[in-house]
Amino acid sequence: MTESTATPSAHSIAGKITAARELFASHGERLLRDKAVAAGLVGLEAAIAECRRAMFDSGIVAACRECEEEEGGSCCGAGIENRYGPTLLLVNLLLGCSLSSKRMSPNSCYFLGETGCVLKVRHILCLNYLCRKIRDLVAHEDLVALQTVMGREMDAVFAVHETVRAFVSR
Ligand code: SF4
Ligand code: SF4
Repeated sequence: MTESTATPSAHSIAGKITAARELFASHGERLLRDKAVAAGLVGLEAAIAECRRAMFDSGIVAACRECEEEEGGSCCGAGIENRYGPTLLLVNLLLGCSLSSKRMSPNSCYFLGETGCVLKVRHILCLNYLCRKIRDLVAHEDLVALQTVMGREMDAVFAVHETVRAFVSR
């Protein structure tokens, strides 16, 4: 995939990042001042932090690091970035996440950095994925608890995404 053309296609990840940056430039300040958006972002950050804590405590973070560093196999394959649209990327920008202008690993998802995913707000496809290794590693009751926390993050992502989408299409 070529990502360095001067005018990227609107459907390419480079085009979607450009669109998200333009939306941020034109609407960012007003979005951050909007009460519903601001409250949604606070709730989303809390849900993300709770989920990250649960993943750390359950050993998933360590297992994924070992998988990356010693087994060379991340599940973050090239092409997954195509599930992201400008609005979800805009939500990342609203939470202070910077979006890289180039893919960091040629055979992996555009957003996979040296220490994992560079996004703060991830697509439901990414949030919902637990590989076989993880499902075998984590005790059943911990998995159930984790899925509840993941569900809260997914609900928060969906709610903020819809609020922001409605705001920018007014
Ligand atoms: S989710 Fe599974 S496949 Fe993906 S990095 Fe973690 S251990 Fe590896
Ligand atoms: S978690 Fe991040 S790096 Fe992995 S597939 Fe999803 S967006 Fe890409």
